[in-house]
Amino acid sequence: MNTILPKRDPNAAIGAIARAATSSAKAAPTGDIRVSYEFFPPKSDKMEARLWDAIKKLEPLNPDFVSVTYGAGGSTRERTHNAVSRMVKETTFEPAAHLTCVGSSRDEIDEIVMDYWDAGVRHIVALRGDPQDGIDAKYKPTENGYAYSCDLVAGIKSIADFDVTVGAYPELHPESGDWREEIDNLKRKVDAGATRAITQFFFSPDVFWRFQDRVLDAGIDIPIIPGLMLQPNFKGLARMSKLCGVSVPEWYAELFEGLENDTQARELLTASLAAELTAELHDRGVRDFHLYTLNRAEMAVAVSRILGLHHRKGGRTPNRHSA
Ligand SMILES: Cc1cc2nc3c(=O)[nH]c(=O)nc-3n(C[C@H](O)[C@H](O)[C@H](O)COP(=O)(O)OP(=O)(O)OC[C@H]3O[C@@H](n4cnc5c(N)ncnc54)[C@H](O)[C@@H]3O)c2cc1C
Repeated sequence: MNTILPKRDPNAAIGAIARAATSSAKAAPTGDIRVSYEFFPPKSDKMEARLWDAIKKLEPLNPDFVSVTYGAGGSTRERTHNAVSRMVKETTFEPAAHLTCVGSSRDEIDEIVMDYWDAGVRHIVALRGDPQDGIDAKYKPTENGYAYSCDLVAGIKSIADFDVTVGAYPELHPESGDWREEIDNLKRKVDAGATRAITQFFFSPDVFWRFQDRVLDAGIDIPIIPGLMLQPNFKGLARMSKLCGVSVPEWYAELFEGLENDTQARELLTASLAAELTAELHDRGVRDFHLYTLNRAEMAVAVSRILGLHHRKGGRTPNRHSA
């Protein structure tokens, strides 16, 4: 005997992902949803090919901006510069260059900043950076250097009118003694000229809401953009989270257990979890999202599509600042 299912109200009880996909699909073309992608500079020809393959797949989604990280202690100075400059010349992206204080004097950093301006770059993600001996080593400011991110922000703004983004830590930076220190530090960065903050990655929407409340209570009114990690290697993710003071829900470990040799399943899980988190944030009004892509396009494409970004048809519009 056939079971006759009752007719369903199509608008009733749809899940957060469906709600995000349907409402943001209307909002994205009007500029209500903004997604940015983070890349790292490639070390080899093979990695360079992978980065540019990811760029080709993500470019038609028209991100708000993209950013390229800066290796510990300035180890990728040339590679970050080359990747960002190539993006200015060859893509429609508005690339932001990450820059850190560690291992360089003020004069050296100022020169890098001026080179970026000359290359047509107008956005810098200004960070203190981790100690050269490793993320868990004790930080010591470089002699004649910028000591902390707020000093770097002020230095950059004194050179040219860059758009400056900074980092923010919804579960406290590991070196901050308490929330007052954390929020005071963010305030100093804003007072120095930062116009938005991207958060350290996190896995629970509550972590973001609590942080946003603290930021608003302190009268900080720049956009706080949630950073979403697309790392399908769970062991690596767990290690990095521990070092960064990020809590990973216990059930994540169970979800990934036994999938060490199944890259595709881990990528599907990673994208699904990020999509769920994104959809919950979207449900409560978040409209800006930063995806840590690790230079892989597929997971970032899936999350972006759920947020309503659509592949743009037609030719390329020249980059605003390219010569
Ligand atoms: C979005 C994002 C992107 C990142 N990209 C990179 C990258 O490309 N390359 C890289 O190397 N790292 C990167 N990082 C990591 C970052 O460099 C580290 O988290 C670093 O430890 C802190 O950087 P910050 O700019 O947040 O530091 P800051 O804002 O300077 O703060 C660091 C710590 O110092 C404390 N502090 C601030 N001022 C003082 C003071 N005057 N005296 C004593 N303590 C003080 C703060 O409370 C805080 O605990 C990134 C982080 C984020 C969130």
